[in-house]
Amino acid sequence: MYKVRCQWCGWSYTMSRDTLIAAVSAAQATQALHHVENCPKCRHALKIQVSDMKRFLPPGTVLTPPPTPTP
Ligand SMILES: [Zn+2]
Repeated sequence: MYKVRCQWCGWSYTMSRDTLIAAVSAAQATQALHHVENCPKCRHALKIQVSDMKRFLPPGTVLTPPPTPTP
């Protein structure tokens, strides 16, 4: 569970474990440093540091490896 606070409207909400894992996996696949979430209240884009989200992953989480390009 990762708590996100919107910097625009101050709304805070919690990302579920599954959402968090999916977000980190997707970010790793593209080697992105940030994950972009849209605030459920004001729809502004929120940039979340991937390294920050990783600290909240449950221990032993297996991330989906990035897809390897097929020749
Ligand atoms: Zn907001």
